[in-house]
Amino acid sequence: MKFELLHPADLLVMFMDRIYSMGMTTMSGGNLSILDEEGDIWITPSGVDKGTLTRNDICQVKPDGTVIGKYRPSVELPFHKKVYETRPDVRAVVHAHPPALVSYSLTRKAPLTDIIPTPYIVIGKVGIAKYDVPGSVKLGEKIAQKIREGCNAVVLENHGVVTCGEDIFTAFQRFETLECCAELNIQSHLLGTPVSLTEEQLELARRKSEAMMGEFIPAYYTSEECEARRQMVNLIKRAYSRKLFSSTQGTFSQRLKGDSFIITPTGEDRFYLTEADIVRVDNGWKEAGKRPSRSVLLHRMIYQKHPEIKSIAIAYPVNVMAFGITRTELDARTIPESYIMMRNVQRVPFGTSQLEPEKIADLVSPSAPLVLVENDSLIVTGKSLLDCFDKLEVAEFTAKTLISTRSIGQAVKISDEEVKEINEAFNIT
Ligand SMILES: [Zn+2]
Repeated sequence: MKFELLHPADLLVMFMDRIYSMGMTTMSGGNLSILDEEGDIWITPSGVDKGTLTRNDICQVKPDGTVIGKYRPSVELPFHKKVYETRPDVRAVVHAHPPALVSYSLTRKAPLTDIIPTPYIVIGKVGIAKYDVPGSVKLGEKIAQKIREGCNAVVLENHGVVTCGEDIFTAFQRFETLECCAELNIQSHLLGTPVSLTEEQLELARRKSEAMMGEFIPAYYTSEECEARRQMVNLIKRAYSRKLFSSTQGTFSQRLKGDSFIITPTGEDRFYLTEADIVRVDNGWKEAGKRPSRSVLLHRMIYQKHPEIKSIAIAYPVNVMAFGITRTELDARTIPESYIMMRNVQRVPFGTSQLEPEKIADLVSPSAPLVLVENDSLIVTGKSLLDCFDKLEVAEFTAKTLISTRSIGQAVKISDEEVKEINEAFNIT
């Protein structure tokens, strides 16, 4: 989706709606702003229900301070102004009190951003601003100081977080990524000790590039392909709303006939994807003008080795990832459904999907449909898109259950004898 042609008031409503519906702000908390080319600041109003905001509720603040609109601008307008004065490259600011980052703000620490590559790459440096009264000029100065030092995200002590960017999507993406990173840190700490990536590993992630592929213009689209595209778009949105995918992370692919499959594009906001954005790959060639997921070669390799696999998902769900970050075994023998869906989850070191994709293609099998790449992602294989989505959801529920069980007692796993019975009853080999 192209954001540059949308009016700032519409953009602010769109993104506030996303933040509210994802549970990252309360009805009254949080404020967003955009600085336009004329130097006007468009900002969300004070004391209006963030769940039902409309474009007419947004305030326009002229450079001379005149306010146009039916409400008063957010009380945090002073720090938004200060951030724009401090960094000319900044055109949008997001502020809210999302639960996991507020936990960090209470400890007066920032979450570790080097436990998976994305936060480290997307956000960069995270600062901490000393506590001050909301809406005060002093708070604005403390935030601006960190922004001046090059931070794109600042945790406010006993308050919340501020992120900024060259457009509202970038500022939102940093906000969403940092909150997710805070959740990841918290779940990892509940489970064990999080392991950070080394400089070399982060450098490897930074170098991850798009595959070089020839291009073709499709002569036609079969009904089967159109149906697969439709289903993929629906499941991507569902995965996003279930926090299995984030705005720019999470990939599905679906095999068509022969050496042909469709796959999610890279660098596009998952929330607004349509059927036309999905990329077809035929015999190693990509649909002209499109950018398939950077993991496209891994998908192809898995399809070539396993005729029974029809669909693949690569995702980053918080609770499953905590197992990869603490290097803990994710044992699916919790309830029969988890075992049947997940079987034996394989774990491989960080970098394997990038450096040795054939190793992952070798590892997956009907008895090991899931592979957890440490500090990176969960790879799910299945017989259809729905099957992959189902496994992904079951894996995240299982991981969440295992983490929460720790606070009430020792989890008793299904025994080998019971596993044998399940295998017989459900014809599992
Ligand atoms: Zn606030």
